[in-house]
Amino acid sequence: MSDRVKQLVRDEIQALSAYHVPEPGNMIKLDAMENPYLWPQEMQSQWLEGLKNIAVNRYPDPSAASLTRRLEQVMDVPSGMRSILGNGSDELIQIICMALAKPGAVVLAPEPTFVMYDMIARFTNMRYQSVPLDSTFQLDMPAMLQAIEEYNPAVIFLAYPNNPTGNLFTEQDVRTIIEKSSGLVVVDEAYHAFAGHSFMPMLKEYDNLVVMRTVSKMGLAGLRLGILSGSADWLNEFDKIRLPYNINVLTQYSAEFALQHSDILKQQTDQICQDRETMQQAMAEIEAIKQYPSNANFILFKVLAGDSAQLFESLKQDRVLIKRFPDTSGPLAGCLRVTIGKPEENEAFLKALKKALRKSVALSVER
Ligand SMILES: *Cc1c(COP(=O)(O)O)cnc(C)c1O
Repeated sequence: MSDRVKQLVRDEIQALSAYHVPEPGNMIKLDAMENPYLWPQEMQSQWLEGLKNIAVNRYPDPSAASLTRRLEQVMDVPSGMRSILGNGSDELIQIICMALAKPGAVVLAPEPTFVMYDMIARFTNMRYQSVPLDSTFQLDMPAMLQAIEEYNPAVIFLAYPNNPTGNLFTEQDVRTIIEKSSGLVVVDEAYHAFAGHSFMPMLKEYDNLVVMRTVSKMGLAGLRLGILSGSADWLNEFDKIRLPYNINVLTQYSAEFALQHSDILKQQTDQICQDRETMQQAMAEIEAIKQYPSNANFILFKVLAGDSAQLFESLKQDRVLIKRFPDTSGPLAGCLRVTIGKPEENEAFLKALKKALRKSVALSVER
């Protein structure tokens, strides 16, 4: 690094390592919670037809008004609430943090959770505090309440269901946190399509609650589109920070088109929920692993017999890419996370997993 760079770039940024996304090559990609399905042929043709009329020489509608209305409808945003859209919910997290980053302001979240809360807190010069989940990955309420009291966080992020653990926190615990917090509570419902529970209807009950969703996990990850909903009081302030043309014309058109066919997306996510159950049953038969309950489109599991890093590599050799966690201690030690794919992809994963486990058991017997 040159002296000039070293001198000018903020220390917190120099200390970071860039977010690493592995190259999938031609592997079966079960690492990133994507929906594996494309659209039916007929729907693709209609979409392409409409694409001809998109004027890429013009700026997009700065507030994406029509798409916002459509999303509010599809996401059941209660009437009287306001929403803004982001370039993925990642951008919405950034907007929230930028708005609340008074000197010394604290971001609080449980641990382990979605890594972008921590990253974006650093980007925006906020202090990040985390509270370990309990051994079942539920909120440790005495510790959470103590942290709220001690740090008085400007914002608390709760992923519901949580990533990477996959579970829902109990509704009562989340309510208690909202009630005890004098800051903002963001319930991040990235996996709403698979969850069966939501805090969206509770927006009217709490003036310090906002709900965030994304279309990424329901089949439109490539479009980069998230929505944040809550009272106009909050959203009007956040909207001031949002860059004027953050949702490009291709995304505005394509998302609106897709949401007009939300029955298709719903069929796909229902299929994934069904296949999650099939996968859970199959994984329950495998003694060398312990899986955790999931209300999302992925399953976290712990390798009980054998080494998770070796297992991960062995799956890769069989062309199956899942997610591993670098920590060798802590709650995710020995854990891997697999996204629910198409039935045949899930089968390929199970087969490769069993093979890898046999190999690692054989190895440990040899030693
Ligand atoms: C995947 C994920 C997101 C990111 O969503 P994008 O809209 O793709 O930026 C946000 N929150 C959680 C908990 C996630 O797992």
